[in-house]
Amino acid sequence: MFKEIIKITGKWSGPTSIILAGVHGDEKCGVKALEKIIPNLKIEKGRVFIGYGNPQAIEKTQRFTEVNLNRIFKKDNLLSKSDKKSYEYKRARFLKKYLNQSDALLDIHASHTPMSKPFVICETNAKGIVEYLPVERVVSGFDQIEPGGTDYYMNSIGKIGICIECGFLGDPQSEQIAEESIYAFLKARGHLTNDLIPQEQSYIRMFDLYKTKTNKFILAKLFDDFEGISKGQVIGVDGNQEVKTKKTAVILFARNREKVGEEAFLLGKNKKSLA
Ligand SMILES: [Zn+2]
Repeated sequence: MFKEIIKITGKWSGPTSIILAGVHGDEKCGVKALEKIIPNLKIEKGRVFIGYGNPQAIEKTQRFTEVNLNRIFKKDNLLSKSDKKSYEYKRARFLKKYLNQSDALLDIHASHTPMSKPFVICETNAKGIVEYLPVERVVSGFDQIEPGGTDYYMNSIGKIGICIECGFLGDPQSEQIAEESIYAFLKARGHLTNDLIPQEQSYIRMFDLYKTKTNKFILAKLFDDFEGISKGQVIGVDGNQEVKTKKTAVILFARNREKVGEEAFLLGKNKKSLA
């Protein structure tokens, strides 16, 4: 596992992009895809930075070692003292040097929800790229409700941040999706000849993130990613309190939790376009 970011330069001038895998160390699909792709990868135009997000967490097959790397790309005044002492904070500062030099990012993740289908997280500035990625769903709104990710950081400095969720982290198919998405991204960005056809995609905008209020949040049932939720439906029990939705929605990343202040689930709504 190398910890540096490698740079691949094309024969002709062009844009600069960056591809990251393993920002969450237990989401191995992107890590395996990069191991396979990097030895032979050549590009035609521009330059591409490629590397591993959180090498220490990848080695331990953990989401992170001290704090969630994908919540720490915020301004310093929004971080705690312990955040700023962490390995992940130092790693984020290192990664920012390369993000700052790039015009667009593809960050490769996987879901903890079994049967989760691949989807993309981005904002409207990713139009012209996302329609080439091998996903049916395009999800926006994360920058507001869950700031601090790599894609959030890129969008916050006027660049393009795209995060792809390649399906369930235990599904071997996720590695294939990761590999396809890397090539699709390189083509859509003009680093390779684009022979792809834009995909028909549906759009969802996330509007709410539920954080636990006690150290025991238990889901009412297992929810699929993007499962439809009706108004007033019980999602789970937080301590002794039932947690219900205020309006119809789709649910994402619903998980049982054992600490206060943890992300338990997100809610979103269907949209006609990415805007
Ligand atoms: Zn992740």
